Amino acid sequence: MAGEAQSDCLFCKIVAGEVPATVVRETETTVAFRDINPQAPTHVLVIPKAHYPDAASLAAAEPVIAADVLREAGEVAAQEAADSYRIVFNTGSGAGQTVWHAHAHVLGGRGLQWPPG
Ligand code: 5GP
Repeated sequence: MAGEAQSDCLFCKIVAGEVPATVVRETETTVAFRDINPQAPTHVLVIPKAHYPDAASLAAAEPVIAADVLREAGEVAAQEAADSYRIVFNTGSGAGQTVWHAHAHVLGGRGLQWPPG
């Protein structure tokens, strides 16, 4: 069923506590944890607890939870005192997506170039 945990999904395993992560925030619908390979002083991933393969499919099926993810991304930025930051949803392998569970990258704490590579 849509949104159900997938046994082969790394981020579902983090939600379930089966894979350790440094969690910085958690709500009923979302988890925010530090990226294992940080690309900036602040690099936190915000994910829905429900499994959807990317941000667009999450927003189509669960718009309230998609909004929860965005709100939490802003809360992470505020918590980390990042006054300038970027929220990124890599979508598709050509755009760098490597984990097929929707996630927002929250990047901050350094200057960020535009456009991204
Ligand atoms: P994507 O490339 O799909 O946009 O982002 C996936 C992110 O997950 C990458 O930035 C990668 O460093 C991060 N990541 C991969 N495996 C793990 C892990 O086991 N734990 C944590 N905390 N982050 C991970």
